[in-house]
Amino acid sequence: MKKTLFITLNILFFMMTSCTKKSETYFESMNTFMKVQAYGEKAKEANAAAQKYIGELEKLISVTKPESEIYKLNNSKTFPVKIKVEALDLIKTALDMAEKSDGAFNPCLYPVSSAWGFTKKQYRIPPAQEIAEKLLLCDWKKVRIEASDVYMEPGMAFDLGGIGKGFAGDEAAKKMREFGIKSALLDLGGNIQLIGKKPDGSDWTIGIKNPFDKNSSVGTLKANDVAIITSAGYERYFEGPDGHKYIHIFDGTTGCPVENDLVSTTAIAKSGTYCDGLSTTLYVLGLEKSIAFWKRNPNFDFIIITKDRQIYITKKIAKKFTMNGDLNGFAVSVVK
Ligand code: AMP
Ligand code: MG
Repeated sequence: MKKTLFITLNILFFMMTSCTKKSETYFESMNTFMKVQAYGEKAKEANAAAQKYIGELEKLISVTKPESEIYKLNNSKTFPVKIKVEALDLIKTALDMAEKSDGAFNPCLYPVSSAWGFTKKQYRIPPAQEIAEKLLLCDWKKVRIEASDVYMEPGMAFDLGGIGKGFAGDEAAKKMREFGIKSALLDLGGNIQLIGKKPDGSDWTIGIKNPFDKNSSVGTLKANDVAIITSAGYERYFEGPDGHKYIHIFDGTTGCPVENDLVSTTAIAKSGTYCDGLSTTLYVLGLEKSIAFWKRNPNFDFIIITKDRQIYITKKIAKKFTMNGDLNGFAVSVVK
C-alpha cells in the first residue's frame, strides 16, 4: 500500500514538474553574453521582459552611449545635472557602497581607467604625472545629490561597471516575478541571479570558475534564491611591454590596476546589486582586509581564490561547496 502511494506521488510530482514550461533566452547586453532560463506558464514573456529591461537599463547607465544618463553627467561642463530616477538610484547605491567600503569601491574612477585605455581598449601605461592628475578627478566624496540634481566637478566621471550587472539581475528578476516566475536562473555574463529553487525543488548547482583555467571550474556551489557574483582579474586585462598583466579593477589610492594576492572574489547574498559591489570591493581589499570587512559586515558570504591557489569560503556556505576532484594544488579554508 505504502509502495503504491509512493509511486503514485512520484508520478504526480513528475507530471507536475514536466508540465512546467521552460524558456531560455540568449542575448548580448552590457558588453557581455547573457542567458535567462525560466520555468512557469509565462516563462517566455518573463524572459522577454527581462531582456527588454536590461536593454533599457544599459541605455541609461552606459558610459559610451551618448543618450545615456551617465554619459550626459560625465560630459557636462556645468552642474547640477538632472538624472532620471533609475540611474539616480544606482548612483546613490554606488556611493553608499563607496562609503561602506571606505572608498575601496569607487564608482568615480573613470578618469583613471580611461587613461589606462580600458574604456576604448587602447591600452597603455600612463606616466605617473598623468595618473596623479587624473586621480584628483576621482574623489567620490565630492559628489552631492539634491533631489534629482547631481553636483560634481567638471572632469569627474561615473563608471557603474562595478555594480551595474548586479543591479540588472535584481531588477530583471523583479520583472520576472511579476509574471509569476518562481524558478529561474539569470546568467548575466557569469554573474548569477537565482529566483527560487529548481522546478523539482532542489538547489541550483553553480560552477565557480577556475581563475587559472577559464574553461574549468574550481568547484560547484548549491544555492537558491541568491545572487552569486564574481570579480576576477582574468575577465579583462592587458599585458604591458614588461610582460606584466594590468587588470580592469583599479585601486583608487594609487590610480593603478589592483595588484594583490587575489585572482577572484565571489560574493553571495540576496541582493545582486550588493553582491556586485561587494565582489569588486573584496577584490580591491585583498584577502586579509576582505576577511576583516566580512567580520564587520557578515550579511553575505564569499569564495575568495588567491594567487597561491587557496580557496577561502565562509562557514555558512562551506557545506554547499564541492571542490572539483581533478584539481591539483588547491586547498580550501573555511572562514569563521
Ligand atoms: P566587476 O567585474 O564587478 O568587479 O567590475 C569591474 C568594473 O568596475 C571595471 O571594469 C570598472 O568599470 C569598474 N571598476 C574598476 N575598479 C573599480 C573600483 N575600485 N570600484 C568600483 N568600480 C570599479
Ligand atoms: Mg562588481
